Formats: sequence, C-alpha cells, structure tokens
Amino acid sequence: MKKSDRQLGMDRDITRRDFIHDLSLASLGLTLPAGALAETLAATPVSPGTCYPPIRTGMRGSHPGAFETAHALAREGRKFPDPVDLDEVYDLVVVGGGISGLAAAYYYRKKFGAGSRILILENHDDFGGHAKRNEFRQGGQMRLSWGGTMNLEYPMFSDTVNALLAELGVDIDELLEGYEFEYGNGPKGSPAIYFDAETYGRNELIHGFSFREGSAGDVSAMIERFPVSGESRESLVNFYARRENVFEGKSEAEVNEILSGISYTGFLKKYGGLTDEAANLFISTTHGYWGVGADSLSAAECIDAGLPIMHLLGYPYLSGSGDDNAGGDVAMFPDGNASIARLLVQSLIPAVAPGSDAMNIAMVRFDYSRLDEAAGPVRLRLESTVVNVANRDGGISVSYVKRGRVLRVKSRHAVLACYHGIIPYLCPEIPPEQKEAQMYQVKRPLILTNVLLRDSKAFDKLDISGAYCPGRLHGAVWQVKGVNTAGYRHDWEDEGPVPVMFWGSVAPPDASVPVREQHRASRAMLLAMTFEDFEREVRTVLGGMLSPAGFDVQNDILAITVNRWPHGYAYDYLDLWDPEWPEGQAPHEIARRPFGNIAIANSDAGADAYTHVAIDEAWRAVGNLDS
Ligand SMILES: Cc1cc2nc3c(=O)[nH]c(=O)nc-3n(C[C@H](O)[C@H](O)[C@H](O)COP(=O)(O)OP(=O)(O)OC[C@H]3O[C@@H](n4cnc5c(N)ncnc54)[C@H](O)[C@@H]3O)c2cc1C
Repeated sequence: MKKSDRQLGMDRDITRRDFIHDLSLASLGLTLPAGALAETLAATPVSPGTCYPPIRTGMRGSHPGAFETAHALAREGRKFPDPVDLDEVYDLVVVGGGISGLAAAYYYRKKFGAGSRILILENHDDFGGHAKRNEFRQGGQMRLSWGGTMNLEYPMFSDTVNALLAELGVDIDELLEGYEFEYGNGPKGSPAIYFDAETYGRNELIHGFSFREGSAGDVSAMIERFPVSGESRESLVNFYARRENVFEGKSEAEVNEILSGISYTGFLKKYGGLTDEAANLFISTTHGYWGVGADSLSAAECIDAGLPIMHLLGYPYLSGSGDDNAGGDVAMFPDGNASIARLLVQSLIPAVAPGSDAMNIAMVRFDYSRLDEAAGPVRLRLESTVVNVANRDGGISVSYVKRGRVLRVKSRHAVLACYHGIIPYLCPEIPPEQKEAQMYQVKRPLILTNVLLRDSKAFDKLDISGAYCPGRLHGAVWQVKGVNTAGYRHDWEDEGPVPVMFWGSVAPPDASVPVREQHRASRAMLLAMTFEDFEREVRTVLGGMLSPAGFDVQNDILAITVNRWPHGYAYDYLDLWDPEWPEGQAPHEIARRPFGNIAIANSDAGADAYTHVAIDEAWRAVGNLDS
C-alpha cells in the first residue's frame, strides 16, 4: 500500500535547496523598475549570488539558522556575554520585523519625526514575520503564493488600521475586484474529500463533498463511499439529513453555556449522533483556521469556524449563515499580507523598491542589499537574533547575535514586536508577574506547504478545486489561483505551473492535555521533522489523489516550499481551556505593559492572530513611549 521513496519521486531533482534555487535564477537583476511586470521579471537575468529570499524553496518559515540562537537562550539558558559594541546609536530599536514591528517603526516616525533613526532586528533571512512571500519561477511564469498570513479581514479593521492601509495606498475595493479565490471550494472545480490508502485502506476521492455548507450533489450517496464502518456512514447520513433544534425549550443563555462547555467532537457525538470514528473525521478541519483540532475547540467556537451545527440548533442550514463561502469577507494580495509588509518596508526604506506602490507591489523585486544602509534613517537587519534588551543609563542597550557574533547597539526606545514567550529571556529584569503573563502566550504551531505543480490538468480532469484530507498532516489542499491583484494575474483558466497549498498543523500526541501543552508537544514534533518528511507527505497525497487523472508524481512536481511555523497564531483564549479574567487582568494585558523605555507590541499583545491586531498593537505600543 505504502509507496517507496523511489515510486514517489523522492530522488527527483526538484529545486528543494535554497542555494540551488538562487543559482538557477542566477540572473534575476536587482530592483526592477516599478512598472516592470511578470513577463519582464520572468525574462530578466539575475547576477549570481543576488540575495532574494522570497524565491528560496526547501525548509522556510522557521528555517534552519533562524531559531537556534533563541532556543539556546530560552531552552538551554545560554548566556551571550561580552558583546562587541557597535558605534550605532538609534532613537528606536524594534525587535522583530513582522507586520507589528514594521508598523511600529512606521508609527514611531509619525510620532517622533521622519528623521528618527530606527533599527529593526529580525532573526529570519527575510522580513515580514508570518507575512511571507513564496515566489516560484520554475516552469516559466512567475507564480506567487503566501507562506503564512493571507487574508485581510477588512470588516474587523479599526480606524487605525484603515488609516494605515489608506496611507499605504491599499484599496480594499480594488483588491476585491480581482479576487476569485474560494479556499478549495471553486470557482473552477468542486470541493472534495480525499481519504488516503495509508489511513483508510484505500484511496477514495469524494468529488463534490464539503463538510461545511456547499456540497454539490447527493450527500448521502457521497457518504456511502466513505471508507469507514457502516455504522459511522449511517450516523453521518443521519447527521447531515437532520433539521431540528436539539435544545428546544432551553433559553439562549442555557444553550450558549452548553455550546461553550462541550468540545465540537463531543457535541457531534452527544447531540449529532455520530460515532467516534465519524466525529474524528472533523478534527483537523480546524487545524489551519485555528491551529487547534475540533476536539479541543468548543461547539460554540466551531460555529465561528463554519462547521456544521446550525441545522441542529433550529436553522435550515448547516453552518454559519448558510453561505457556502468558508472564507467570509476577506481581501487578498497574491502573496498574502507579505504585500503589506513590503509596502511598509518600502515606505520606511524607499531605496529597496523605488516607485513601487500598492497597485504593482506583487510584481516588484526588492533590492535586499539596500535594507541595512548606514546612510538611511531606517535600517532593517536580517539574520539577527536579539538576546538582551535592557533599560540602561536613561536609554536602551540591545544585544543580538548575527552569524555567531554577539553585537550591541544603543537606543533611546525599544519596541519588542517579537513573540511574548521569548521576552522574559530577552529582558530578565521585567517583573515576575509580567513574565508569567508573557509565558502564558504559547503560539499555535502551523504548517503551510506550497508545492508547485507542472500544471493543473489533473485537478481539472477530476473537476476539483482542492480537497480536505482528514487522515493527513495537512488537513487541506488547495490550488492557488484567482488572486489577480497588485499587478499579478493567474486566472483559473490559465495553463502552466500552479502552486498548490497544503495547510494544517501537527496533531498533538495527546489531545486530552491542556491546549498549551498540546501546542508545545506539536511544536517539538514539527521542529523534529525534516524537509524530506514533508516532501514524502505531499508526494504521497498528490500521488494518491491525482494519479488516476494522469498526474505523474515523479515528474510533475517542480518545487516545494515548506513554511513551518512552530510559533504560529497568537494565543487567543479558548472556551474549554482558559478562565475569564477581570478587566485588565488577562495575560496579554499584563504582558504588554511598558517597562521603562521598552514598549511591547506583536499580535500576542492583542491575544488575537490577525494582521490588523498586529497593527493595532504596534500603534498602542508606540503610544506608550514618552518623548
Ligand atoms: C500560517 C499562518 C497563516 C495566517 N493567516 C492569517 C490570515 O490569513 N489573516 C490574518 O490576519 N492573520 C493571519 N495569521 C496571523 C499572523 O500571525 C498575523 O496576521 C501577523 O502576521 C502577526 O504579525 P506579528 O508582527 O504580530 O508577528 P510575527 O509575524 O510572528 O512577527 C514577529 C517577528 O519577530 C521575530 N522575532 C522573534 N524573536 C526575535 C528575536 N529574539 N530577535 C529578532 N526577531 C525576533 C519573529 O521571528 C518574527 O519574524 C497567520 C499566521 C500564520 C502562521
């Protein structure tokens, strides 16, 4: 049943190493003029050795070289004594070059003047934090996908966020115009569920089936083909057919209490009549959306996640408001919110991409050699892990490690826009209560693996847009097409290479333990996985699912980029695992208190994993700094 590595094509020469990929593109020039579009980019030669991280494939996200120093500091208690003092003095040092850190630099300049000298230190080899661009050039046309943050959840934006986006030239209406992406539900091809042979005994692709609203066809007939027991199939058929109110006669408050006190899978079993086996099929449906399995989320939370439940609460539809668009109201750039990060960087350091704007930002090749120039007021220093931040002599001293050297700079202020869990190690002088609150915020691990296929013929032949894969590491697989914004086009009818996005998280070894322990265990498993583990996984799924439609698993995969995020979504409080805190006493509210000349940002500071929260928290943090 299990295919050998050779059968899966593991020996094939795809561009899986950063180095090889950079050299294969060894002609891509420096910054392109703002107007240069896809064709120009694809054709433009690049000088060897040019550093342009978005084209790197292989293990990305938390890539080798990015995390070792921080782990030595936090896990092994390593000290970094005797830093070399650089002759650099800033007004602001920002720790973390994600959306929050970049926005903090932006707001600092607004508050303290455009001449403010700012240094942004970031441990990865690219800026943006979770807002990462995956740029593929194998097979001819440039193809884009996102390596993390993707949606702009514009209905939730504050005035602060709307104002920033307007200043960056981002027009949500414009983005919506070019947006034809439905998270595996269309618009070309149907949703599907893929049961794999390794887990379920046989490969079975159920065309048209969606766990949520929106199955196309006879749901009972589809469920009859599920490779699970007859009892489980019957329970699923009944579940989807029912329309009733299982809480008839109870008050709204009573219903809310029940729904927020029971897990979703518990609800499915107790009120939905599903067998254990049938209920377990739903577990990984929430991995990508929430970073937590549906067995650790409450039934109430899974209403928000769009899972079927409403039909048992007296409504005529299965989920949400009956709308089959699982994505909700969102807008998108073709590289996700990497475009927001790029617009911020371009506004801070214009020389990286002169003349570019929100209308063409997706097509612009940034000149990374201009990020850290002594002459500019703002410098962005990559591959630099901060190990100490201290209030000293009325200002701040910041030590960081770059390529094995411990270096130190001085500044007037600091904004920590990094994960809160690392702050107690960076700033040992922070009060114990605040450190404890920061440690509470355990980010949720996530994986987003982009695989560039030679074409989408097999998807088209099977008439599917993507598939949900309940037995696999990545719970969802989607073609990435139809985000035609910011100068980029990749239409659903286009032929040629197509990125396919695998989305999920590592299921914890023990899902009964408190959710933060689940995250720590999943994180350790994720970090222990090699690139080859991910490659084997995506080849197994693609081979099993698409081979009947002519997909050649040995030859039709052009590149693989694993975006591994052991520290993914900010920790938001969950019904089943977190108490209700009095106003002002929730961990994130204590964690983000300013400390001397140090202010604290990051989406952790809002206890909510959103780009707009990262921006709001940057605004608040800069507001904490005195003139
Ligand atoms: C796979 C994935 C998908 C997502 N999808 C969405 C989405 O669709 N919409 C949405 O709104 N949000 C989404 N998010 C949430 C995302 O976290 C936020 O949108 C936002 O990008 C968070 O920005 P941030 O700056 O707060 O944190 P981060 O992006 O985590 O940035 C913090 C940066 O600080 C760096 N850092 C940490 N410690 C140090 C140190 N000691 N020294 C130097 N640097 C350090 C980190 O490496 C990181 O680069 C997604 C997240 C993930 C992981």
